[in-house]
Amino acid sequence: MRALIYLVLMYLAAYLSACGGPGPAPAMAVDVSCQLRATTLQLEVGASPEPDHLAYCNALAALILGPYYDAYQEWRPTDMTRHVVRVRVAGDLRDTNPKLAAIDFRIGGETYDDAIDLAFGNWKSLAHEMNHVARGSGHGGWCVDFGPWAWETLQDDERAYLHCDNY
Ligand SMILES: [Zn+2]
Repeated sequence: MRALIYLVLMYLAAYLSACGGPGPAPAMAVDVSCQLRATTLQLEVGASPEPDHLAYCNALAALILGPYYDAYQEWRPTDMTRHVVRVRVAGDLRDTNPKLAAIDFRIGGETYDDAIDLAFGNWKSLAHEMNHVARGSGHGGWCVDFGPWAWETLQDDERAYLHCDNY
């Protein structure tokens, strides 16, 4: 029960996502891996707040990440087999990659050629990052389709971040 409460609390946290520079993901010490539908979820060493790390990985996949993954795939089926989803210890991905360090806002998600990184607790950005897998870097046209979909489906308001006038 404690794990579930923790997951729900983390679900409520909101961050911005960064917008993928291409290239491979930086190295990460993997603690445990579990299945997230067609891809793999990896927890960085130190990311599990629970003593049973594999159980926590499976709980994240099922309770939090799965619904975002499934919702996105229902909207726009996307091949995710070349990307692992990595849960980082850091609450801000600027702490995980020197290339991100100069960005002037907190970074909750990042898409690389081979991985999606999520800052700890920033589960909602999975759909945003999956859209980078599908569409590449940059946000051209996202106000027309992804933005409205994210708002209606995930109650994720990205208008300011995507510079959308409204939707
Ligand atoms: Zn983005």
